[in-house]
This record gives sequence, structure tokens and C-alpha cells, in this order.
Amino acid sequence: MIVAIDGPAASGKGTLARRLAAHYGLAHLDSGLLYRAVAHHVSARGGDLHDPSVATEAARALDAATLGDPALRGRHAGEGASIVSAYSGVRAALLDFQRQFAATPPGAVIDGRDIGTVICPQAEVKIFVTASAEERARRRALELTTRGEPVDQAAILDDIRRRDERDMNRSVAPLKAAEDAVTLDTTNLDAEAAFRAALAIVEARAGERRRA
Ligand code: C5P
Repeated sequence: MIVAIDGPAASGKGTLARRLAAHYGLAHLDSGLLYRAVAHHVSARGGDLHDPSVATEAARALDAATLGDPALRGRHAGEGASIVSAYSGVRAALLDFQRQFAATPPGAVIDGRDIGTVICPQAEVKIFVTASAEERARRRALELTTRGEPVDQAAILDDIRRRDERDMNRSVAPLKAAEDAVTLDTTNLDAEAAFRAALAIVEARAGERRRA
């Protein structure tokens, strides 16, 4: 089974994807890490994030073994990722890795922006996870506070709005729900309730497929 989870920054899609993967015994890929790794690779070598050929070269050379680097989780890598992810060369270079990951038995839960629309249009289940920008900023601030990092809530909200704007309006693989995705708005749901709701969506889809 392939489960595609798409949605904007800090919507909680990563946590949901991880929990669904553990529940069903599937592999999990946080595809945002691929774009973060490309941006990190470029910045670490003093390269220009606004040069598509430099970023595309970094995407072609990406080593999946580096995806665990904690530096990729930071705000800087996230901002850089939303710049390099708009380049068609970068997206093309990362396509096969994601498709192969999805095709490896027993299947996978992959979260990102274009999993249900571009990477795995054949996914059995597609969930588009969303929440208001304010609620996403609140959650991101809480996460940073828990990690002992300084928090400027207004800057976080700005950051989230800037990323939404870039991700939704780029010409290649913009963030949007696939036509056959189920939208899950988690604005008023805690993590447990969101997980239960996602499970219900997967079970309903699996049931429909069995009956078809
Ligand atoms: O999900 P995460 O916040 O880690 O993603 C970082 C950035 O990478 C996003 O803002 C988006 O621009 C890009 N991204 C993408 N396609 C994906 C996953 C992430 O364009 N499938």
C-alpha cells in the first residue's frame, strides 16, 4: 500500500505519516528532507541557492545516507528548501528516488507537497493535511520551545506564510490537493484526534478498494 500525505509547512503531516507507517508496518519517507538536504549541501559549500544549475547539481549528487543530519531540521534548511524546490531540474533529479522508495515492498507512507499529484498519482490513499496558518505557527513555536530554541512567534508566522505562498504558486509541482485526496483539517484537532481521523480515512479507502 502507498499512502500519500501532502500539506503545507507545519500542518502535522510528518507526525501523521510516521504514525501511520508504524501502524501499518510500512516504510516512511519525509520527502521535505530531500529538498532540505539539497539546500544544505549548496549553502554549506558557499553556493548560491538562487542558481538552478548549482542546486540541480547538488540534487543529482544527493546521498540519501545524509538525510539524518540534524542540521536539515532547522529553519534555515527549510527556507532554502522552499527556494531550490521550485527548480524543475531539482525536482526531476529527486523523482526516481521517491518513486523507487514507494515501489519497494511492502509499500510506504510518503509526506510532502506533490506526492499525491506527481510522485505517486497511483497511491491507494491520499490525504491532504491542513490547518490555519496561525495554528501551524503556534505548533511550530511550541516545538522550538520544547527543543530549548528561541522563539519569535510573529517571525514564525511570517515564515509559514512566505513558504505557503512560494509552495502554492510555483509553476512546477505546486502544493495542492490531488483530486482524489481526502482533506483533513487539523486546526481544532490534537495529535491523537488527528491520527484517529487519518486512520479512519485509510480504513475507509482500503474498504472501498476491497469492495471495488
Ligand atoms: O516539509 P518540509 O517543511 O520539510 O519541506 C521543506 C520545503 O521543501 C517545502 O517548503 C517545499 O518548498 C519543499 N518540498 C517540496 N516538495 C515536497 C516536499 C517538500 O517542494 N514533496
